[in-house]
Amino acid sequence: MRLLIVEDDAPLASGLQRILEGEGHAVDVTSRGEEAMLAAAQERFDLVILDIGLPQMDGFEVLRRLRASSDAKGGPTPVLVLTARDAVDDRVRGLDLGADDYMVKPFAAPELTARVRALLRRSQAHGGPRIVHGPVLLAKVEKIVSKEAIIQAVAGWGDDLSPNAIEVYVSRLRSKLEPAGVKIRTVRGFGYMLEEFKAS
Ligand code: CA
Repeated sequence: MRLLIVEDDAPLASGLQRILEGEGHAVDVTSRGEEAMLAAAQERFDLVILDIGLPQMDGFEVLRRLRASSDAKGGPTPVLVLTARDAVDDRVRGLDLGADDYMVKPFAAPELTARVRALLRRSQAHGGPRIVHGPVLLAKVEKIVSKEAIIQAVAGWGDDLSPNAIEVYVSRLRSKLEPAGVKIRTVRGFGYMLEEFKAS
């Protein structure tokens, strides 16, 4: 999954990034609300972890704007708000503005990762019909997916993922999926597409 952390406490932000990358996510970090809004306008994140106390545009404003723009972008992105201890009003206000969950600092890493997993599960379950292709559940069917789109979906900002690396990953994926009868076709010059599933 693709996650965005908006947190101006640099050690906390990089600690969270490391933990969540360890869980297999692509994680981007920004310390500024303005930059978070730009990123969210250009890219699709599966979850945003948002600190309330940010310089200039604070977390409430980021949340308000994210929620105002989410309808146009195909479903709201789950937002987990981080608040300072004792700031009960902040929690209430965050939830009123459409936050999906909150954590009070300081918190334990296992609790954060558990809440992230729960939020991602919930949003996947509500994310429209799942399409089953043989034994596999899919997000894109009957569409050619370009290498650039794959890079965009799986790489964080700092990751240097080349089209060649995507070829390597797709070839590994093929060797895992083909025994189950699922075939990924290369559409030369465009990208990849699943072949129609034929149960054997
Ligand atoms: Ca802060």
